[in-house]
Amino acid sequence: MKICIVTDMEGLAGVSDWEQCYATDDQDPRYAHGLTQLAADTNATVAGCFDGGASEVVVWDGHGRNGQKAFTRVALDPRASLQRLQHALPIRLHGLDESTAGVVMVGQHAMAGTIGGFLDHTQCPKEICRFLINGEEHGEMSQFALHAGAYGVPLLHVSGDEALCTEAQRLFPWVASTPTKRGLGWETCELYPVDDVRARIQREVAQAIGRRSVAQPWQLATPIEITVEFGWSAFADKLAAIPGVRRLHARTVSWKISDPRFIYNWPSADWHPAA
Ligand SMILES: [Zn+2]
Repeated sequence: MKICIVTDMEGLAGVSDWEQCYATDDQDPRYAHGLTQLAADTNATVAGCFDGGASEVVVWDGHGRNGQKAFTRVALDPRASLQRLQHALPIRLHGLDESTAGVVMVGQHAMAGTIGGFLDHTQCPKEICRFLINGEEHGEMSQFALHAGAYGVPLLHVSGDEALCTEAQRLFPWVASTPTKRGLGWETCELYPVDDVRARIQREVAQAIGRRSVAQPWQLATPIEITVEFGWSAFADKLAAIPGVRRLHARTVSWKISDPRFIYNWPSADWHPAA
């Protein structure tokens, strides 16, 4: 049984500061601390997968700032295989296919515009106000659920702040969640005891895999309409110039995708969405 895990950093147990996720200097001790937390939460999740009966576990380093190099600096459980996200049309998560039993998210954050969400955002922090799928607000958890759903694979478990867990319960009631902390403001939070959180992640990931028969792959009829409201019109200018992109407002653009796996692709000179 294969389980695939995508990691992020904002929702990790032990991460309480923007610089722990985004410091631009690789040697910044705050960023090094963030990477240590990433390894600890990820390895607790990997252990939970094997406890739950997995025979193969794939991990992708999903936090953009890491450039997919986090696990060259901190050690991933050697039982897991590290794979790459490939920027293709559509974006490819090597290892994810119809043979996968379920997917799991580590260190995830709530969607842009969530009250009480710690470092909440969708794709680009501080640039995107709202991301909508068929007119309904969604975030990165939904994007991953939709991408995996294209292969018939359900999202089973997420860990992140309380706001992320609430988002999971509201949108995907079959997805189990483990809270790591409580957001107090956009960049302030109250951490929960990290060792307790990681023990709970390991236990609850295993339980979620055991209950996977109740989980549903998230599948929508195509075409699927994507709408993005930016914080500033200039961000919309570029996308609005691509054929197939409609401009709904100075700051808002919309397009349609005929394959859910394109949820991660942005309209560009290389790829025009369906007209
Ligand atoms: Zn991130």
